[in-house]
Amino acid sequence: MLPKFSYVRPDSLHEALNLLDNQNARVHGGGTDLLGCLRDEVFHTDTVVSLGAIDELRGIVQTNDGGLRLGATTPIAEIAEHEVIAESYGALRDAATVVASPQLRNQGTIAGNLCQKPRCWYYRGDFDCLRKGGELCYAYDGENQYHCIFGGELCYIVHPSDTAPALAALGAVCRVSGPSTSRSVAVEALHVPPSVDPQRETVLDDDEVITEIIVPPPAAGLRSSYRKVRARASWDFALAGVALAVVFDGDTVTTARVFLSGAAPIPWRAKGVETAITGTKLDAATISSASEAAVRGAEPLTKNGYKIELFKGLMTEQLEVLARRG
Ligand SMILES: Cc1cc2nc3c(=O)[nH]c(=O)nc-3n(C[C@H](O)[C@H](O)[C@H](O)COP(=O)(O)OP(=O)(O)OC[C@H]3O[C@@H](n4cnc5c(N)ncnc54)[C@H](O)[C@@H]3O)c2cc1C
Ligand code: SF4
Repeated sequence: MLPKFSYVRPDSLHEALNLLDNQNARVHGGGTDLLGCLRDEVFHTDTVVSLGAIDELRGIVQTNDGGLRLGATTPIAEIAEHEVIAESYGALRDAATVVASPQLRNQGTIAGNLCQKPRCWYYRGDFDCLRKGGELCYAYDGENQYHCIFGGELCYIVHPSDTAPALAALGAVCRVSGPSTSRSVAVEALHVPPSVDPQRETVLDDDEVITEIIVPPPAAGLRSSYRKVRARASWDFALAGVALAVVFDGDTVTTARVFLSGAAPIPWRAKGVETAITGTKLDAATISSASEAAVRGAEPLTKNGYKIELFKGLMTEQLEVLARRG
């Protein structure tokens, strides 16, 4: 059952920011994650501030320089179905298409997808684990088959978003507003690793909201993709996922940005893969060494060693797909 809280639905950003400044309030995009967290008492709030009636925060438009502006409250379904995104930003289209179920994609927003809370079953359950302010991580010696193989320290979640690694690979930037300031935060810098603070997921202050996400114009020769492997074929979070944004000059890779999902508490940049493929022609030998590089330095927990082979296979498959698109 949901606990009691006030629900407010301002129709301007100014009013929403004032409400967030003055009270112990939480932002509500589509509510698909927030309401589950409140119901399960992961955290509490007095006031839920919906952004749903603020027209300026919704929609997809092309920017003057040929990039894209995604309003924060744009439903994920609209992103999955947008023609320009399908043509020019394959990784984002692929990612939006595999988020949750059709109903959740209609209700869930792009900013909510970036800011959603982790899915660790201890955190969502009745355990006062470290991320909830307790002393212990129960997953470390417990049921950790869905947890991280990189970046674990104190807490071993994986970041649950599919769109975050895709947007990070594409070099997208969030515009963020607070009561008195605005700033830009690159998607790749939005999430906080547990080594910095195991109780925060993003760098946003409680009174800040993402208002829009800017995706830069696609470079000539850009090929991008996102694919995740999940336990259930219908809908599920990533066991392992790979987002690639690779720029080719003819057959040769000139730049590459590669992020993993299901791997780490934040979208995990696979710099070893980027180095392995930049300046090459993506032949079988290069792809093989890039796939090894994807898992170099991984530290699996007691029950998730299977992710190593999963990431290697997925990386091989996706690099082959991009090589063939030429
Ligand atoms: C059954 C189920 C399956 C799912 N499967 C997947 C999946 O496969 N892949 C995946 O990526 N996700 C998955 N999700 C998560 C779902 O995609 C997200 O819940 C949804 O995208 C979040 O969007 P929302 O607008 O509903 O967020 P909300 O629930 O409204 O908010 C989520 C969090 O973000 C904050 N927030 C919302 N908007 C803003 C903003 N503009 N600025 C700052 N903070 C904000 C909220 O305060 C809250 O903490 C699943 C969820 C469920 C319930
Ligand atoms: S992995 Fe993180 S969220 Fe899960 S039990 Fe450990 S501290 Fe809590």
